[in-house]
Amino acid sequence: TEPHTTPHHAGYVAVIGRPNVGKSTLVNALVGAKVSIVSNRPQTTRHRLLGIATFPEGQLLLVDTPGIHHEQKRAMNRIMNRAARGALEGVDVALLVVVAGRWDDEDSLAFDTLHEAGVPVVLVVNQVDKIKDKTLLLPYLQKVTEGRDFAGVVPLSALKRKGLEQLKSTVLPLVPEQDALFAEDEITDKSQRFLAGELVREQLMRQLGNELPYATTVEIESFALDGRMLRIGAVIWVEREGQKAIVIGKAGSRLKDMSTKARMGMERLFDAKVFLETWVRVREGWSDDEAALKALGYGE
Ligand code: GDP
Ligand code: MG
Repeated sequence: TEPHTTPHHAGYVAVIGRPNVGKSTLVNALVGAKVSIVSNRPQTTRHRLLGIATFPEGQLLLVDTPGIHHEQKRAMNRIMNRAARGALEGVDVALLVVVAGRWDDEDSLAFDTLHEAGVPVVLVVNQVDKIKDKTLLLPYLQKVTEGRDFAGVVPLSALKRKGLEQLKSTVLPLVPEQDALFAEDEITDKSQRFLAGELVREQLMRQLGNELPYATTVEIESFALDGRMLRIGAVIWVEREGQKAIVIGKAGSRLKDMSTKARMGMERLFDAKVFLETWVRVREGWSDDEAALKALGYGE
């Protein structure tokens, strides 16, 4: 008898959806490490990022996106939109992520755009942990899938890591039968240096109120292995002196707390001891200056 071998699949998967639905949380859950930062603020993700999820049956190359920003005036928004649109080039399948119970015009538009582009769309109904009465899910799914040709529908909770097996077995057959495209110990296309900056920025998104997170960014000035310890120097850029004081906090307390949390995230992700130093500096208008943004690593 012929030995039975299951085919190996590998391909690119665009993760699409409105801000804050849980795209980055889902990418991290599938990869099994925090490659993409998460906060409860929209536009936390500013860069397109590849999360590499390797399983015995195949490899999913998940393209996490900033999401389309309708306000095009600022250079930062234009760059984020370019990254989101570029995410569709060469993808084998798209995950349209929505929050259970919600379906907006933007979701319809996203489905239509993907469908017309000939990309199979799997509907990911995230945050089902928030739906106490699960019988409400069925009519919702019926309504949303009515007249729309989804390649699959998977309710799940990215946060609680429930339903991921189902997603994996739905998506893998939709990507080409081929060998892995990345080594199995690779988890992202971004450098450790980039990820270190993101972990600092995640704290800014989480700990600063209102508009301020959008007026800050992070530059990793130094990144060096010193024996078995990583020495990392990060600059937090703000636009005005007043913002600097807020980031630093009373007697440096906020900066200290953010640095500690970012460092712990780095130690977990890099599996190494980290010595992190952070500074806050003022550069006027950085978020509306394309050249300055490029120098800070935005746009490809
Ligand atoms: P993105 O903007 O689509 O990338 O969304 P994020 O991944 O940054 O998540 C936005 C917020 O939703 C964060 O506070 C997450 O913790 C939260 N979130 C993501 N997935 C789930 C989920 O399955 N259940 C719940 N309750 N919250 C979630
Ligand atoms: Mg995100």
